[in-house]
Amino acid sequence: MFDKILIANRGEIALRVIRACREMGITSVAVHSTADADAMHVRMADESVCIGPAPSAESYLNKAAIISACEITGADAVHPGYGFLSENAAFAQALEDHDIVFIGPSAEHIRIMGDKITAKETAKALGIPVVPGSDGGVADFESASAIAASIGYPVIIKATAGGGGRGMKVAQTASDLEIAFRTARSEAKAAFGNDEVYIEKYLQRPRHIEIQVFGDGKGNAVHLGERDCSLQRRHQKVFEEAPGPAITGAMRARIGKVCADAVARINYIGAGTVEFLFEDGQFYFIEMNTRLQVEHPVTEAVFGVDLVREQIRVAAGLPMSFTQDELEISGHAIEVRINAEKLPNFAPCPGRVKVFHAPGGLGVRMDSALYGGYSIPPYYDSLIGKLIVHGRDRPEALARLRRALGELIVDGVETTVPLFHALLAEPDIQNGDYNIHWLEKWLARQLG
Ligand code: ADP
Repeated sequence: MFDKILIANRGEIALRVIRACREMGITSVAVHSTADADAMHVRMADESVCIGPAPSAESYLNKAAIISACEITGADAVHPGYGFLSENAAFAQALEDHDIVFIGPSAEHIRIMGDKITAKETAKALGIPVVPGSDGGVADFESASAIAASIGYPVIIKATAGGGGRGMKVAQTASDLEIAFRTARSEAKAAFGNDEVYIEKYLQRPRHIEIQVFGDGKGNAVHLGERDCSLQRRHQKVFEEAPGPAITGAMRARIGKVCADAVARINYIGAGTVEFLFEDGQFYFIEMNTRLQVEHPVTEAVFGVDLVREQIRVAAGLPMSFTQDELEISGHAIEVRINAEKLPNFAPCPGRVKVFHAPGGLGVRMDSALYGGYSIPPYYDSLIGKLIVHGRDRPEALARLRRALGELIVDGVETTVPLFHALLAEPDIQNGDYNIHWLEKWLARQLG
């Protein structure tokens, strides 16, 4: 087992990893920018190293500075969390070249899944059902138009290098296609430095269902069921639950096995998420994330496992601590993402937190790096906490979420908490009756 792990991240996810390290008797090293000198992850870790100025490009994304921090502190492994360098194949490779273990999949698997076209081709070859669309990149408008006509409108143009819900444009009809195609390409170029795009059938009312998989890198893999992450704003998840209200045990067993078998075949190591759109009982692969997800705690709650501990174990060459037969769902879990944002426009609202009080009690988990007196810096993501509740069933989880949200106090900055109070009053949310467009439509009605 490792003696010392460096956590190349900040905020709640850095705390999440530090906690797992501490329970395993592993020394933790925090890295931070100058803007984060007073951050909770720096205070909570055993050691810390400043790796650069406030902008992420010069600190949390600075591979050389992070590798130097490993050398200085003698860390033998790096946990990347999510975001930042977590899906950066060059970073995983650079660590390997320095004899430092990257806690995550191989650089090759990150590369394959990071390119959405290669990912889709790989998924298809491994027997995973995919969304109908172009075979690979679409070079010009004429080919785009021919493909769109053959799969039928509406279609979605997506950036090969896309991520974080960016670089996607929908064309409802043939007359929208030219603008959608050209804007998607120029946005992709600007955001990702790569203007390659591909086309998919645009599903009208799907759910976003993702399967948690886990491999030991030696040809063994399991699945840990699904999460329904359909409630999204601008393609960004805000509310996630497990199990999915629309997924039956038979569906779970079938798609879960397809995913676990696929990752076993490629000797995948660590945590991964296979994302699908789900409509009329069918699953359509959209992408695979080769890292821990923000919403992993709902899976931990219903399966009673520690996914970070498991990531660390397999990275150190140990076997997984559970088999597929031992993994059983118990109850229902929901996570809400709390952002420092001002409603109704979700404008980022950094600033000083005067009072912070986290909810507690049975079945409540609050993952947050806030504390009273902390100043949220303006440079990073606006996520300030994740509230996760677990109940015996979905109604109990909903009641617990309402109760826990009522206990949460974040005084000094605006947050998205009022959004969740409003959502919990909606019959569709109470009934689990929503798809990926539900939230946008609901928000438009609130404003209109
Ligand atoms: P990213 O990597 O940027 O998150 P994804 O491919 O995972 O991009 O898609 C993000 C979201 O965009 C999905 O959860 C869904 O809401 C929407 N989306 C993507 N592809 C389609 C599609 N073919 N039809 C309808 N919606 C889609």
